[in-house]
Amino acid sequence: MSTETFGFETRAIRSQLERSQYLEHSVPLYLSSSFVFEDAEDMRASFAEEKDRNIYSRFSNPNTTEFVEKICQMEGAEAGYAFATGMAAVYSTFAALLNSGDHIVSASSVFGSTHTLFTKYFPKWNITTSYFSIAEPETIERYIQPNTKILYAESPTNPAVDILDLEYLGALAKKHNLILIIDNCFATPYIQNPIQFGADLVIHSATKLIDGQGRVLGGITVGKEDLIREIYLFSRNTGPSLSPFNAWVLSKSLETLAVRVEKHCENAEKVAAFLEEHPNVKTVKYPFLKSHPQYEIAKKQMRLGGNIVAFEIKGGIDAGRQFLDKIQLCSLSANLGDTRTIVTHPASTTHSKLTEEERLAVSITDGLVRVSVGLETITDIINDLKQALS
Ligand SMILES: *Cc1c(COP(=O)(O)O)cnc(C)c1O
Repeated sequence: MSTETFGFETRAIRSQLERSQYLEHSVPLYLSSSFVFEDAEDMRASFAEEKDRNIYSRFSNPNTTEFVEKICQMEGAEAGYAFATGMAAVYSTFAALLNSGDHIVSASSVFGSTHTLFTKYFPKWNITTSYFSIAEPETIERYIQPNTKILYAESPTNPAVDILDLEYLGALAKKHNLILIIDNCFATPYIQNPIQFGADLVIHSATKLIDGQGRVLGGITVGKEDLIREIYLFSRNTGPSLSPFNAWVLSKSLETLAVRVEKHCENAEKVAAFLEEHPNVKTVKYPFLKSHPQYEIAKKQMRLGGNIVAFEIKGGIDAGRQFLDKIQLCSLSANLGDTRTIVTHPASTTHSKLTEEERLAVSITDGLVRVSVGLETITDIINDLKQALS
C-alpha cells in the first residue's frame, strides 16, 4: 500500500519515526541534546551535510523531525522547521528572509505580537510595513513598492474571523514576485491548506488547535524548500528551536487533529446558530454562516468553519464586561483552540491600548466577544452563554 493514497487521518496517525530496537508502538521521547559520531570521517561528513542525520537538537532531533514531517504532509509542503512558539516562527521567518531596506505588505488585522514586530522592531533594521484593509483587498496593489518582498496575511483573522481570498493573494504574489506567507493558525492544516492556493510559506502557532489541550507552546513554518533552507540556517544559529518534549506532545496531538477539529467545528456551528437567535446579540460572525460577509470565499477555501465565533453584544463595552463577569463554565483566558471553551472581550483587554478608531479599522467593535468553542457537552456551553447573556 502506498502512503500517498492514504487519507488525512491515516497519515496523521501512521506516519511516524522508524521503530527503535525496542519495537515500541508509540513513538518514544528522545531527550538528548546531542548525537554521537562513529569516527572522525562520520563527524566530518555529518557537519558537511553529506548525511541527513541529527547532530545537535538545536538543529534537529527525532521528535522535532517527526512533528515537522507530519505538518508538511498535512499542508502539502516540501519542508519545514519547528519553533518554540508561534511568535518564534513568525519572527525567525521574516528575519531569515528579509534584508535592511526590504518592505512588507500585510493585512491590517494580524495577531497582536506580529503587529508589534512590524511596527516597533523591524523599523530598527530598516524593514518597513504597509497595511491593507481586510475589507478592501482590491487596494493591495497600491501598497506594493519596488522593495516589497513579502505579502503577509492571516485567514480567518483574529479576533473578528474575517476571511481573505487566498487564491487572489496567491495570484497577486505571483504577479509581483512576492513571497506569500499565510498564518494558518485559526484554520489548522485540517481545514485549510494555503499552499494549494499559491502560498510559499505557511506558519502555525502549534500552541492553539494543534496542541488543542492547552499544554505546550510551539510553532512551525512549512513551505518551499529553498526558503525553508534560509529559515533553517538562520534558526540553527540563533536558537529558537522547539524542544523535543513539546514536539513529542504535538506529534501525539496531530494523531487526533481531525476528530478534534470536526467536533470543535460542530460545536461552534451550534453556538453560532444559538447566538444568531438571541435578542441581546446584535450580530454574529462565523465563516460558515450565510450572513458572514465573505461566506462564499470561506466555502471555497475552507473545509469547515473553524472553532472561533465572534459576536457583537448589545450595549457596548459595559455589556461585554458584564457578560464576562457572569460566565461560569467557560474560561476567561488569553488562549484559544483548547478543549475548554474560552471567551474574551478584545475591546477591554487585548486591544484596549488601541483608540476606538484603530479598533474599528480591524473590525473590533466595543461589544465584540470572541468565543473559542471547546469540546465540552454542547448544551452546557450554550447554557452558560445563555445565562451570561440574560
Ligand atoms: C497565538 C497566535 C500566534 C502566536 O503564537 P504563540 O505560540 O503564542 O507564540 C501567532 N498567530 C496567531 C494567529 C495566533 O493566534
